[in-house]
Amino acid sequence: MTKQSEIATRGGNLAENPATPTPSTSRWLQHLPLFCKRQDPEFSKIFEVVNTLALDDTHCHLVTDRDAVTTPQRYLERISLAGFPFPNYFPAGVYNRWLTGDETTRHDLDKTYGIQGKVDEMTYHLSQSIFIKFLTKELAQFLDCEPIFEAVIEARNDRANDYWLYVNSLFRDVNLENIMLDTGYHESGGRPAIEKFEEGILPCRTHRIARVEEIQREFFGMDVSFGEFEELYSERLLEVLDGTGNFGKRSVGMKSYLLPFIGLIEPLYDRTLAAKSWDAMRRSYSELPIMKRQAAFNISKDLRRYTFTLALEECLKRDMPMQIHTGDGEAPEVILRNQDPFYLEEVVRFDRDNMMRTPKIIPLHAGYPSVGKAAWLSHLYPNCYFELSIMTPFVHQSLHERYKQVLEAVPLSKILFASDNYHVPELFWLAGRWGKRYLAKALTDHVVGGSLDFDEAIEAARMVLHKNNRSVYNLRDL
Ligand SMILES: [Zn+2]
Repeated sequence: MTKQSEIATRGGNLAENPATPTPSTSRWLQHLPLFCKRQDPEFSKIFEVVNTLALDDTHCHLVTDRDAVTTPQRYLERISLAGFPFPNYFPAGVYNRWLTGDETTRHDLDKTYGIQGKVDEMTYHLSQSIFIKFLTKELAQFLDCEPIFEAVIEARNDRANDYWLYVNSLFRDVNLENIMLDTGYHESGGRPAIEKFEEGILPCRTHRIARVEEIQREFFGMDVSFGEFEELYSERLLEVLDGTGNFGKRSVGMKSYLLPFIGLIEPLYDRTLAAKSWDAMRRSYSELPIMKRQAAFNISKDLRRYTFTLALEECLKRDMPMQIHTGDGEAPEVILRNQDPFYLEEVVRFDRDNMMRTPKIIPLHAGYPSVGKAAWLSHLYPNCYFELSIMTPFVHQSLHERYKQVLEAVPLSKILFASDNYHVPELFWLAGRWGKRYLAKALTDHVVGGSLDFDEAIEAARMVLHKNNRSVYNLRDL
């Protein structure tokens, strides 16, 4: 650890321990959140233990070094859920041409599409969110700088010449030990980017999750018969799960993005319907880009249901969980109204031959904003889990109340911590920092109210923060 990262780590812990400021950070003490100045003794006792616990992240995406040097505006765009699918606000390819083009290209594209104005609007509103104002104060402590957003970005850029050391210090500050990496989103970096990231975060271990849509994407555009497609798909599925098909490694689970495309997911075993859908999709290639989005998704709906069902069968055989994107957004690409957690009930049951087969299902993103529905689905079905990402960290201070809502319905043995980190590494850190803090706060309420004793509260935190993850993915010997 270099001197610089030692300072950074001390700064990161300071908010939890304001009684022992270091000289280098004390000048920013006045900006500490009120939360840190007035801690009740019961909370302090619980938080002190919870904050040191190992952390496993059950759903996240890689970091590349393309955000090592950034600007305040670009950082806002990259951390924003609205900015995530920003290219979709313009005709295909336009946004990237604007982003990477020379001055004349940018000027011409901007004149036609008003790109800069849209970026300004989106980043301005995000800069006015409490999330960013809170992030600024927290990161200022970690980076030992003035709690002003521009100063935080500047201090972050100062670490760019050893970006991976900085990323690693963020991981160590929240004690991340395992991450379950959804390789379906890798910013077109492929295997080299994934391997660089995995190496950069060591000794934190990475376990890979394969995305169903990545396998579909490989073959959906092929000019072959349905039978040939089916053979290629099934072969690749096995290679991804058991061989080296997940960018050189095997997988420990799968992830599906089907829900936002089609809404209610009913498993499909009928090959004839899937074959019809395959033919219809091939006939419609030229029209798909100009069709309304739900109509376009409906053409391949049966094919997607069928291939999803094949994947879930393989997960079931291996006792592997299937993560399913639920709630959350990424508008304007996805269809928000389709993401209701209750649309997963048939998948959770996975009926066949008059028998419920109950594979392990992990609805993602706490079903946010339908948190209560996701929690209740998990309460009712023993094989349905509950995952905390997106809500963590984007709900920030109110995580205290949200975690209480989850804890009131979901068995402790099924709640899984996750960040859904993408693009910038600070989401891993914020999720870990706030996750531990507000989980400790919610558990304190249970201790004070008498529903848990101290030891039970600490064991609950252990389960949520890492034990459940290791058990659901069968990560033995950890
Ligand atoms: Zn994700």
